Amino acid sequence: MTFPYKGYAGYYLEVDLTKGVVHKKEMEKEWARLYLGGTGVSAKILWERTTANTDPLSPENVLIVGTGPLTGAMFSPSGRMMFATRSPLTGVWAESHVGGFLGPEIKYAGFDFVIFNGRSEKPVYLFLRDGKAELIDASHLWGKETNIVATMIREEHKDPAVKVAAIGPAGENQVLYSSIIVDFYRAAGRAGLGTILGSKNVKAIAASGSLGLEAYDMEKYLEANAREMERLEDPIWTDSLASLRKYGTTDLVAVINEIGRLPTKNHWTGYFEDAEDIGPEIIAEKYRIAQEACHGCAVGCKYVIRVKGGKYQTDPVGGPEYETIMAFGSNCLNNDIESVFHLGKRCDLLGLDTISTGKSISFAMELYEKGIITKKDTDGLDLTWGNAEVQAELVEKIAKREGFGKILANGVRKAAEQIGGDAWKYAVHVKGLEASGQDPRAHQSIGLTYATNVRGADHLRSISCIEELGYPKIAADRFGEDKAEAILEIMSPKHKGEVVWDVEDLYALVDSAVICKYATMWPPVFYFDTFVNVIPALTGMEEWGNPKYVRQTAERISHLRRAFNHRLGITRKDETLPPRLLSEPMPTGPSKGGLPDLDVMLDEYYEFRGCDKETGYPKESKLKELQLEFVVDELKPLKMTR
Ligand code: SF4
Repeated sequence: MTFPYKGYAGYYLEVDLTKGVVHKKEMEKEWARLYLGGTGVSAKILWERTTANTDPLSPENVLIVGTGPLTGAMFSPSGRMMFATRSPLTGVWAESHVGGFLGPEIKYAGFDFVIFNGRSEKPVYLFLRDGKAELIDASHLWGKETNIVATMIREEHKDPAVKVAAIGPAGENQVLYSSIIVDFYRAAGRAGLGTILGSKNVKAIAASGSLGLEAYDMEKYLEANAREMERLEDPIWTDSLASLRKYGTTDLVAVINEIGRLPTKNHWTGYFEDAEDIGPEIIAEKYRIAQEACHGCAVGCKYVIRVKGGKYQTDPVGGPEYETIMAFGSNCLNNDIESVFHLGKRCDLLGLDTISTGKSISFAMELYEKGIITKKDTDGLDLTWGNAEVQAELVEKIAKREGFGKILANGVRKAAEQIGGDAWKYAVHVKGLEASGQDPRAHQSIGLTYATNVRGADHLRSISCIEELGYPKIAADRFGEDKAEAILEIMSPKHKGEVVWDVEDLYALVDSAVICKYATMWPPVFYFDTFVNVIPALTGMEEWGNPKYVRQTAERISHLRRAFNHRLGITRKDETLPPRLLSEPMPTGPSKGGLPDLDVMLDEYYEFRGCDKETGYPKESKLKELQLEFVVDELKPLKMTR
């Protein structure tokens, strides 16, 4: 092997599904140097291998399975992996990250990336073990739910250590927001990655490896790791970490409701009166039976629940995250937590994104309340708010694309177009992605985060916890004493453009490294210097010891993903919010009256990002500075400013 850097497996796999063959190839040096891994490398590959005319559901679309140098490298938390493609739901950039144990296993099996091209004639799954890869017939797995697929694959290989990512019936049926379920109940949920695997007739990806990884300078790497771990032990994080360990993300139900940001009744308001019924205390006291951690994680925010009796009785299963509780709970006015557990579990087994599924149902409930749809449209279902039984029926119908479920299976943007009339007013999405569990009328910078996020309305590309959780020293260290006070005011648009720009670049590295955001960014423990500290010792890439180089790489990755969307027609006019979040003042709760001041924040964001304020396009000079000349050549018809 001539690939010079450590921390990587050193190979990637090209899978030609149309021909049914695999090719093992050496990793490209420039991918690591200029894009690090994960998201960054995926952006480069997708830029080169797709065009503005690539239909997401065609064999020409490409799906990438990615890891980063820190995946499996015993850096806490290092159990992450990611998937990237052009989304079938939004038509633009899609990436989705997931924890568990499969990511490290793919690297220990000898691969950093897998690139799926074409379409298989019959169902297959990919199996990776110790430098070898094979496509295996999956006809017997087609139609099966995700947990059964994982169990059967393990049995076939007589190895309980095999880790599996699988799609469910929803992905096979081309529901546009199908997820990929990893290690039984962890989800790469958003933007339809499972739909793309289904379109390619790939049922699962499984791996087991024993090849191990090397560090360039083990002593220095261990020292660097220890220094980063010391940061986690700083007493300022104690409360946040204790809460994550005790409640997982369910804690957010209470915290976010308290500030009036919890999406409720299809985002009508940000305050749910029954939040306690679906909140952290009741879950921890009555249902939680164990706490879990992903590979190598010192935090352990995952939890297992059991419901002992009643309609929604269940054996031990992964408990729902905050977003699932919000989507099926407050946002549908459902205060029955046991039904929420059931809905989350069914989504995982069927391979549905819980956020888009819950939001599609709350959208339909509001249309039903307003008389835009009636029982004639809903197959006779009574879509009154909080009707958990109807929610459960709709989940099954969506996964099968059956009756009214067929319309909701396309997501709220397309469903609104199909239904017509005023339905669009209640479709809460950005760029076609249903909004996640934050209301920008209660937190200014979230409005900007939603608007500028390359994959649409969600918080995972640039949400800032400094302002949200109030860390004045960190705000001052990162942005200067003079700005700190205004940054901590969550209802002020001041300096939020700079904050979102900064966090977006930071997360570009986190997602390229590939590590977990919990406990490293929320609370905001790690920063750019983490990468300066760790990456050279692990990989031997000396330039990564230069803080300027690290910031430039982050910018390069952010710009390349944005350019991917510009090539597909995205401009400033698309970097906006749905009418409900942009112009209906918050009607109730602690944030009553709030609205995001989006234009002010966007102007500032474009300034920092090096983009033209009118169009949102990058300036030519900025792209050249970032060694993205190949982007300049292709975006020329867009009339970028210099
Ligand atoms: S913080 Fe939670 S989600 Fe992240 S790696 Fe640890 S256990 Fe997994």
